[in-house]
Amino acid sequence: MLKKRYVGRFAPTPSGPLHFGSLVTALASYLDARSHGGDWHVRIDDLDSPRVVNGAEKRIFTSLEKHGLEWDGPIVRQSSHRDLYQSALENLDKQGLLFACDCSRRKLAGRIKYPGTCRDLNRSNLAHSALRVRVPDQPYEFNDLVQGIYTENLTCTVGDFVVSRRDGIPSYQMAVVIDDDEQEVSHIMRGADLMDNTARQLCLREKLNLSLPRYAHVPVFTHSSGVKLSKHSEATAIDDRFPSQNLQTALQLLGQPVPAEKTVDELLASACANWERAMVPKTPSIIDFVSV
Ligand code: GLU
Repeated sequence: MLKKRYVGRFAPTPSGPLHFGSLVTALASYLDARSHGGDWHVRIDDLDSPRVVNGAEKRIFTSLEKHGLEWDGPIVRQSSHRDLYQSALENLDKQGLLFACDCSRRKLAGRIKYPGTCRDLNRSNLAHSALRVRVPDQPYEFNDLVQGIYTENLTCTVGDFVVSRRDGIPSYQMAVVIDDDEQEVSHIMRGADLMDNTARQLCLREKLNLSLPRYAHVPVFTHSSGVKLSKHSEATAIDDRFPSQNLQTALQLLGQPVPAEKTVDELLASACANWERAMVPKTPSIIDFVSV
């Protein structure tokens, strides 16, 4: 059997500039791809338009470039995949796996698991409703390249989950599966805060008959106050004036040897030659934001 080509990706939501936590994730997926001779793509997750901030995309590209994280091929945007999402939804619908749900957030308030309220109502008018997929009562298991074995039975955790929102926008779970498949991504290395989304994505891949990528969830680094260093937090953007120092700190957090080399290119070349996925810590460490 032919070995699958290594294709990695970094898929930021353009809801703000790149923060230190996202730089760590980008660097990890970049080094993992490059050290395996793979391609590395940047995809802009711009589907959730209410969260998209004008100018954020450009700032993200500038930060990646300043840190030497050069990507392959053209930038792909989720907004160019609308037809693909639609045909995937039709595919699930043909299999009888979708149902319309009108439960408001308020009605479901505080519940992690969907209680199945609309599952058997057989609504024919799907307009202005969210669409949920019926989940099977079976475990989904994967061997995460950083975190190890993870198993989840969706009927016990989240229940039937949303694949298309009330506003007609495909859910993150739906979009990411289609996007990654379209780009033939073989290795998904991303923040560990997304680990418990993976079983839902495996379920969709199974239902849509898509091949399975390898997953690797790297720790999400937090401010010493416990605030996640991501675009959602109030933490400031990474300072593009100090790319070498930023890369050195990121490498340290990823459990990698920290080269003394000064230029960005030298640092990355050395980091790539010495990259050891097995050294990436499983759990996040708290870092003092002021020091990065
Ligand atoms: N766009 C998501 C984010 O910025 C990441 C999606 C993914 O890596 O699966 O958090």
